[in-house]
Amino acid sequence: MNIAKVIVDVPSKAINQTFDYLIPEKYMEILQIGMRVTVPFGPRKVMGFVVGKTNDSELDKLKEINGVLDITPVLTEELLKLGKWVAKDSVSFYITALQAMLPQVLKAQYKKELIRTTGERLPEPLEFLFAGRDAIPYEEFEYSTISYYQLQKTIQEGGVSVNYLVKSKITKKQVSMIKPAKDITHLEEILVDMSKNAKKQRQLLMHFIENPEPIERQGLLKKIGTTASTLKPLLDKSLLEAYTVEVYRNPYNENDFKPTTALTLTKEQQKAITPINKSIEEELHEVFLLHGVTGSGKTEIYLQAIEKVINKGEEAIVLVPEIALTPQMVRRFKGRFGTNVAVIHSALSKGEKYDEWRKIQRKEVQVVVGARSAIFAPFENIGIIIIDEEHETTYKQEDQPKYHARDVAIRRAETHKCPVVLGSATPTLESFARAKKEVYKLLTLSKRTNEQGMPQVEIVDMRKELHAGNRTMFSRQLKEKMEDRLQKGEQIVLLLNRRGYSTFVMCRDCGHVKECPHCDIALTYHKNTNHLKCHYCSYEEPMPIVCPECESDLIRYFGTGTQRVEEALTQLLPEASIIRMDVDTTRRKGAHEKLLGQFARQEANILLGTQMIAKGLDFENVTLVGVLTADSMLHLPDFRSSEKTFQLLTQVSGRAGRHSLEGEVIVQTYTPDHYSIELASQYDFQTFYENEMRMRKTFQYPPYYYLALVTVSHQNKVKTAQTTQNIVQLLQKVVNDNTVILGPTPSPIPRMKDRYRYQCMIKYKNEPKLRFYLNKILEQFYDEMRKEDLFISIDMQPYHLM
Ligand code: ADP
Ligand code: ZN
Ligand code: ZN
Repeated sequence: MNIAKVIVDVPSKAINQTFDYLIPEKYMEILQIGMRVTVPFGPRKVMGFVVGKTNDSELDKLKEINGVLDITPVLTEELLKLGKWVAKDSVSFYITALQAMLPQVLKAQYKKELIRTTGERLPEPLEFLFAGRDAIPYEEFEYSTISYYQLQKTIQEGGVSVNYLVKSKITKKQVSMIKPAKDITHLEEILVDMSKNAKKQRQLLMHFIENPEPIERQGLLKKIGTTASTLKPLLDKSLLEAYTVEVYRNPYNENDFKPTTALTLTKEQQKAITPINKSIEEELHEVFLLHGVTGSGKTEIYLQAIEKVINKGEEAIVLVPEIALTPQMVRRFKGRFGTNVAVIHSALSKGEKYDEWRKIQRKEVQVVVGARSAIFAPFENIGIIIIDEEHETTYKQEDQPKYHARDVAIRRAETHKCPVVLGSATPTLESFARAKKEVYKLLTLSKRTNEQGMPQVEIVDMRKELHAGNRTMFSRQLKEKMEDRLQKGEQIVLLLNRRGYSTFVMCRDCGHVKECPHCDIALTYHKNTNHLKCHYCSYEEPMPIVCPECESDLIRYFGTGTQRVEEALTQLLPEASIIRMDVDTTRRKGAHEKLLGQFARQEANILLGTQMIAKGLDFENVTLVGVLTADSMLHLPDFRSSEKTFQLLTQVSGRAGRHSLEGEVIVQTYTPDHYSIELASQYDFQTFYENEMRMRKTFQYPPYYYLALVTVSHQNKVKTAQTTQNIVQLLQKVVNDNTVILGPTPSPIPRMKDRYRYQCMIKYKNEPKLRFYLNKILEQFYDEMRKEDLFISIDMQPYHLM
C-alpha cells in the first residue's frame, strides 16, 4: 500500500478528516499505522498521525510525506480508535485527542539523536555511521544512505535507540559501562606479563577475571580506588571495552520499598473481591463500584485483583488523584509489585514521564499507577482498570479534549473485556445512582480493617462563638483540644477549605447566605459593581447592607488564606510547630513529599493545609483533625457544592485514628444544620445520597439531567454576547421540547485576560444528536474563530462551571 491516511495538526474546517499522502519509497517498508509523520499542508510542513494505509485515493495528484518522526509507532490501533471516540464524545478535534494520549516529549518536535545501546557490533553501515561515537544526531542518519528498514530492525534488536532531546535536559540517562574485550584466559596471560608496579591496572584486570560481566564505570573505579587514567591504557590496548547504556531515570529508589505480600482478606473484603475475580477470570466487562469507608481495605483489594491479572499475563491500569500520588500510595504498589510498576504523575520531569511511558510501551511493566492521563497507557492486554477515589474531579480534564477518565476507562475495558473498579468512601451521585440501577455492581465495605469505629465528629457552631465574644477563627473547643494534644505529644491536622475564596456573602450573625431565588445556588459577590449575581440564570441584586434574615450589619463576603491562619495559630499556640501546605509552599518539585515526610517523622505538631492534605495520608500519631470553615465550599455557585462538602469532610475525618490511637474531629461552621455537614459528621452516606438526589431532581441537575456548557469568549463584549445568543437560537431549533437552554449569561468569571466570556448551559435528558449539532454549529463559526479570534469551548460534562 503506497498511500497513507493522515490526521494533520492544523485547525482546518475539515479538521477531523484524514488527508491522503504518497508514501515515498524509502519509508515504504517501515511506515506503520500509529506513527507520526511530517507532511506538506498548503505552504507549511505540519505534523500528523498515520491512521490508515490504502492503495487508492479519490484524488489523483497526491503530495508525498516529508518525513517520519517515529521509527516505531507511538499509538496502537486501539488507541487510534479510542482517540476518535474521545474526540467525538467530547466534541473536540481528533488530532487534539491523539496528542493528549502521548507524553509531552512526543507532542512537540524535539531534536532527536541515535544512541548505541549495546556493546556488540552494529550492522556494518550503522557501525560505520556511528564511527566510534556513542550518540549521533538523527540527521546524520537521515542524510546517509542507510535504509529506514535497517534502522527499524536494529532498534527492534536492541542495538540502537532513538532519544529525544528535551531542551537542555536529556530524556534518557546514560551510564558508561566497562566489559572485557578479550576472553578470560587471554586476560590471565596478559596479567602474568604485566609489570608488578602497575598495581591498579592489575587489580582492574583481576576484577574482570573474577567477574567477567559488564560493570558500571563509576562503580568499577570506586571499587578499585583508582581513576580514569588507569583504565585508559587497558581500553587503548583493547583488553577492555567501554560503551554506554541507556538507563531509566528512576524517580523512585527501589530499595525504599519493602516487599509486601498479600494479606489474608477479611470476610467483607473476600465478599467484595469475589465478583471482581470472577470477572477477571471469565473476561467479562463489568463496572464495579467499591463503596468502602476510609481504612476499610480497598487498596488491598486492588492489589490482590491486580496480582490475579498479572498472573494471567495481563496488565493493570490504576488511576489515583494527582494529589494522592504521594510516596505513601506509590509505596504500596511498588512494595507489592516492585519493578513491574510504572508511575506517572505531574511532579515528574518531562524526561522521567517519557521513561515511565516507554516502560509501558516496551511491555517492561504490567502495572501503571498514575494520574488522569495514565488511562491512555499503551498496554495491549488490559485485564483490569481501577479508579481510586472515583469522586475526584481531577479525573475530568479541563483543557481540550475535555474528557473524563472514568468514561475512557469504561470504553477501554469494553474493548479489552475486563472489569473496571471504581473505589470511594464517598462515590459521586452519578456513580451511586448507576449502582442502584444495577448498571454498575455495588460492592460494600462498611468496616475499618482495624475494627475501630470512625472518629467522633463534633460540630461547632461558629455563630455561637461570635456571640460569646470569640472573634478569632478558632473555636474554644478546638483550642482546648489542640492544647491537649500538644501536651500529649500527639499530632493535629487542620484543614482550611480555601476554595470559594472571597466569593459568597454570609451573615456572621445568623449564618444566612444569599442565594438565587431560581437556582438554589449561592450568589457570587462582584466587587467592582458591589452586586450579587447568579451565574446560572443572570439574576442580580445589589449587595445588601444588612442581613435580610436578621438585620445584622455583620453581613460580609468570605475569605481567609492559609498564611493568615498560620499567623493566627502562632499567636494562639506559640509553642506549637506548624507545617503549612498550600499551593505556595508546595510549588517546588518534591516540596510536597518533603513536608509530609517531616510531619510523618513528627518534626511538627500541626499540619495546616488546604484540600491537598485531605486525601490518602496515613499518620499514626494524628489524633485530632480540625476543619476551620466547613461551609466555605458550600456556597460556591456550583450545584455540586453540597456533595463536595460531604466528600471533603468525610475524607478529612478519615485521617484521624487510623491506627491504635483513637481519633477525634472538630468541624467549625456557620451552618451547622446543613444536611451535608450534619450527615458527614454521622458518616451517613445513604441519607445524604437520598437527600441530595431529591435536590437534584427538583432543580433538574445530574444525575437526573445531563449538562453541556458552551462558553464563548472574545475581546468585544457585544460580539461575545451576540455569538452566544446565536448559538442559543441555533440550538433551540434542534433540541427536544423538554431540553432546557439557560443563557446567554456572563460566565462566573465574566472577563479573563481581557476577553469577555458568556455561556449557555444545556440541560437535557435525551439528545442523542446533541454532539452532532454542536459540531455543526462549531463548523459554522469556524471562519470567525480563526480570523477574528473568537473562541468557543464546549464541555459535555462540566465540573467547573466557571
Ligand atoms: P482504604 O484504601 O479503604 O482507605 P486501606 O487499603 O488503606 O483502606 O487499608 C487500611 C489499613 O488496613 C492499611 O493499613 C492496610 O494495610 C490494612 N489492611 C487492609 N486489608 C487488611 C487485611 N485483610 N488484614 C489486615 N490489615 C489490612
Ligand atoms: Zn439563578
Ligand atoms: Zn443574619
